[in-house]
Amino acid sequence: MGKIIAVCNQKGGVGKTTTSINLSACLCAAERKTLLIDMDPQSNATTGLGLDKYDIEYSIYDVITGTEIDERPLTLRDIRVKASCMDYLDVAPATPDLAGAEIELVNEMAREKKLRSAIHEVKDDYDYVIIDSPPSLGLLTVNILTAANSVLIPIQCEYYALEGLAELLNTIHLVQKNLNSLLVIEGALLTMYDGRLNLSRQVAEDVKSFFSGKVFDVVVTRNVKLGEAPSFAKPIILYDIMSSGAENYLNLAKEIMQNE
Ligand code: ADP
Ligand code: MG
Repeated sequence: MGKIIAVCNQKGGVGKTTTSINLSACLCAAERKTLLIDMDPQSNATTGLGLDKYDIEYSIYDVITGTEIDERPLTLRDIRVKASCMDYLDVAPATPDLAGAEIELVNEMAREKKLRSAIHEVKDDYDYVIIDSPPSLGLLTVNILTAANSVLIPIQCEYYALEGLAELLNTIHLVQKNLNSLLVIEGALLTMYDGRLNLSRQVAEDVKSFFSGKVFDVVVTRNVKLGEAPSFAKPIILYDIMSSGAENYLNLAKEIMQNE
């Protein structure tokens, strides 16, 4: 039965999608069957793995809103696709219409549990399910946290790194209390770290004390190759295996696999 990890932080540009793609790929390199679910209407995880968001007929939007074909609702089995670049990797793509799901689901029964039920049907097919999140704490994120076993929180080593974390933890606590009591924090992940900067070192200290130790040993350093890889539709381990980004994300996958 697969472990479901949500990659969450309502701040944009902190490394959620980069982490979702590259953690997934590194788990697959270790022959762990992995499903990457793109839950961000911006669809960056989808396009970063070479899927064209305008070519996709059905997406995660159709699964969580209950689009029907042949008089039955679409499931993750219908919409998942094999990533062309990696064995062991499936992707549940997103399209921009996912933004509308926040509103369309408002009057639905069990609206917070749509993703959880969808994943339930396929989770035995995988060792890991990784979910990339949108930059908000709305209904999509509540669905993600309700579906997940654990949350991985990427934190950019920049000014205001800790801003908004209280709201994120509050949302996590509310979900734990009302919807998913088994949800745990997998860990905070420092991203875009630059060891030459006092600021990066200061943020690392602050994050460690804020999360009282629940921080990954691995730190993702700033690496331009990580920014280039998506435009070649490749995860970092295929784009440049010698890069620091490849090393960092392989180590992250190892740290996560240590809990198996
Ligand atoms: P989010 O999904 O949280 O919005 P992204 O993963 O898209 O964040 O990252 C934001 C930007 O920063 C992207 O352009 C990405 O390529 C770049 N980026 C992410 N991680 C790194 C890193 N470690 N070093 C350099 N650039 C990075
Ligand atoms: Mg993103």
